[in-house]
Amino acid sequence: MSTPHYRFYVDGEWVDSAQRLEIRNPATGDLVATVAKGSTDDVDRAVAAAKAAHEAGDWRRTPPEKRAALLHAVADRIEARLPELAALQTRENGATIRVTGALHLGLSIGQLRYLADLAKTYPFERPGPAIGPIPAEGVLRREPLGVVGAIVPWNIPLLVIVWKVAPALAAGNTVVLKPDEHAPLIALELARECEAAGLPPGVLNVVTGDGDPVGAHLCRHPDVRKVAFTGSTEVGKSILAASADTVKRVTLELGGKGPNIILDDADLDLAVDGALFAALANNGQACEAGTRLLVPSELHDEIVRRLVARAATLSLGDPLDPATDVGPVISARQRDRILGYLESALADGATIAFGGGVPSGPGFADGYWVEPTVVTGVSNQSRIVREEVFGPVLTVLPYDSVAQAVAIANDTDYGLSAGVWGRDEERALDVSRQLEAGMVYVNDWHVINPAYPFGGFKQSGLGREGGPNALDAYTEAKFISLDRSGGLENRAAFALVLGTPPTGAP
Ligand code: NAD
Repeated sequence: MSTPHYRFYVDGEWVDSAQRLEIRNPATGDLVATVAKGSTDDVDRAVAAAKAAHEAGDWRRTPPEKRAALLHAVADRIEARLPELAALQTRENGATIRVTGALHLGLSIGQLRYLADLAKTYPFERPGPAIGPIPAEGVLRREPLGVVGAIVPWNIPLLVIVWKVAPALAAGNTVVLKPDEHAPLIALELARECEAAGLPPGVLNVVTGDGDPVGAHLCRHPDVRKVAFTGSTEVGKSILAASADTVKRVTLELGGKGPNIILDDADLDLAVDGALFAALANNGQACEAGTRLLVPSELHDEIVRRLVARAATLSLGDPLDPATDVGPVISARQRDRILGYLESALADGATIAFGGGVPSGPGFADGYWVEPTVVTGVSNQSRIVREEVFGPVLTVLPYDSVAQAVAIANDTDYGLSAGVWGRDEERALDVSRQLEAGMVYVNDWHVINPAYPFGGFKQSGLGREGGPNALDAYTEAKFISLDRSGGLENRAAFALVLGTPPTGAP
């Protein structure tokens, strides 16, 4: 069978280019697809198309219920292809097939439907309260921004795309989406389904290509009104700086270094499984991963023993096999980065309690692999504990008091996720309230529910995605003041500035 070739999507046309991206299966190195690679000129064309579609006004004037219905039709179409698209996602980014089916696709469909439905009840225009005793009235409006630039990473691409594209379209904006160069296929499949569901040309455009120049050009483009970005904190900062020139609206979902506190009354069986779940889901490549496990000093050795025993039961291997628990990492570069963090931890005096290497054997001859790894004997100042590793690595740190656990948990530049395990719910909630994180999970992790916002404190981001207010980030507030006093009210204000007109003046 020949390798599929994908084109990108601008103004309702599928565009080819001489430049190609090669999408390789991270488990095998096999070529999954080639993709036409866009340029900064293609970004200009896509932004022009999105701007023209916005100005023509058909989409923003489409009744919100109809916009919602179209997004539901897209969700139906993705749902109908779920097994096929889950396999494609696994071959594109190496996430295990159980996870791509339930999480990447299943969660994305649920989010798409929820975010579409928000448009049905959103207060796009409503009368405001009367202003003062005289019937001068206000109208409160939320209007679409115009062209939204969306830039996403490769790790959970469809969910991260839906968090941006669904509220943007539901609110009547037009979009230029730049998927990650490692995993653009699911974005192009989404565009295909939007087209098939009847989304007008120019309303959603997808330009593939590298972060710099293609993504960077989109962020600087004067006709882009907002940038919605998910990715590393480093790139997020550069996007925030680039947007200053034209005062773009910006939402950022960035990195994390989630602290996971096991309290001394926790159910250890549950907490140990929960700690591995928090750290290893999506092959350890999740922004909200729980990577710093904080354990009572007196339980440290017992918890490490249990973690190692449980980690030894995990099956590492072909992510397309439903029996596989942990798959590969995205690239050779990422594998080498993770191994570099493990080396630096060893240099800091750490112990590798489990894993720590590249697996050997026939299934691992190609592709990019790191064993699930448990690291002990590090302080909160060690590089592996301070920086985002983005791989299947859990570090364990002891604490002597709950106050110390909270202090260590909050001693980080990040603030995306955190977790607490304990049987006493009030006590766990009390600890949760002290943690500086956008999401705190009590006796759980990775809870992503469309009705709740997702995003981070501190350098983990700016703004929130999903949740009941998701459309606010894709609309501008407008106040229209309507004076109905026939001059009774405003004349008094005029007099404050202009003085009282001389009698007999025209
Ligand atoms: P990355 O920042 O390198 O890349 C993300 C996207 O930005 C890609 O599409 C890339 O092409 C683009 N990009 C790169 N340089 C750019 C530039 N100068 N201007 C504009 N765009 C540019 O991220 P990564 O390392 O590939 O992805 C993993 C990161 O994403 C991790 O830090 C992870 O925590 C984060 N992430 C965050 C969330 C969240 O919701 N907070 C979700 C998933 C991933």
